[in-house]
Amino acid sequence: MKIRVLGCYGAEFPGFKTMSFLINESVLLDAGSVTSTLSIEEQERVSDILITHSHLDHIKDILFLADNLAGRVKSPINLIATDEILAIIQGSFLNNTVWPDFTLIPTISEPVLKFKPIKTEENIKIDNLTVKAVDVNHTVKSVGYFISDEGGTILHSGDTGPTDRMWQIANETEDLRAVFIETSFPNEMLRLAEISRHLTPNFLKEELKKFKKNHLPVYVVHMKPQYLEILKKELTDIRYPNLHFLEQGQELEF
Ligand SMILES: [Zn+2]
Ligand SMILES: [Zn+2]
Repeated sequence: MKIRVLGCYGAEFPGFKTMSFLINESVLLDAGSVTSTLSIEEQERVSDILITHSHLDHIKDILFLADNLAGRVKSPINLIATDEILAIIQGSFLNNTVWPDFTLIPTISEPVLKFKPIKTEENIKIDNLTVKAVDVNHTVKSVGYFISDEGGTILHSGDTGPTDRMWQIANETEDLRAVFIETSFPNEMLRLAEISRHLTPNFLKEELKKFKKNHLPVYVVHMKPQYLEILKKELTDIRYPNLHFLEQGQELEF
């Protein structure tokens, strides 16, 4: 599985883009930074978008991607998430006021976007990938994803505060290769992290005690760029054996 990191931060600043991974050149995991990064040819190759939740920093480029590709793609791009998440995107964004309803454009029979609802903890197939969503703990309905191919499985937490079920499944996943997990705020912003259901480095330290496979790499994502320096210091201080700071533009293979 090839992962290209289009954006991996918890806010947008010059040089720092919001969450989006491109997997095997055709599957997006979140769409916070797609159209400012991919060429039109690369955008046309996108077949599916896995969505962790409806917050704008994870979905905004679904809107711009649909606009760019209207009339250019033969089959619609699948928007994949649970019913609740898709309903928010449909009702709040693709509602013909904030943005046109690209599930009906350019024609009802050949639209740019198509909703593909999934259930948590059920496997679905996308080409040679097997994907399973798991509920996590955020202010809106939010899921993490286990994504597998013949090379193994990776876990992406999405946005989450402290959570349990995701770690249970991670511990049971024999071919797990890597974990991508959010840490948004520095320790002194504990209160804000709690009410917005995000992790701090101290929270992450507690979370990683639930994870039994500490030989595997853990990549930190969704850091707020305005606190990057202090976050990296505090994350280094938790002294986890295999912790990495994911970088925008990085390409990984599992
Ligand atoms: Zn976010
Ligand atoms: Zn969020």
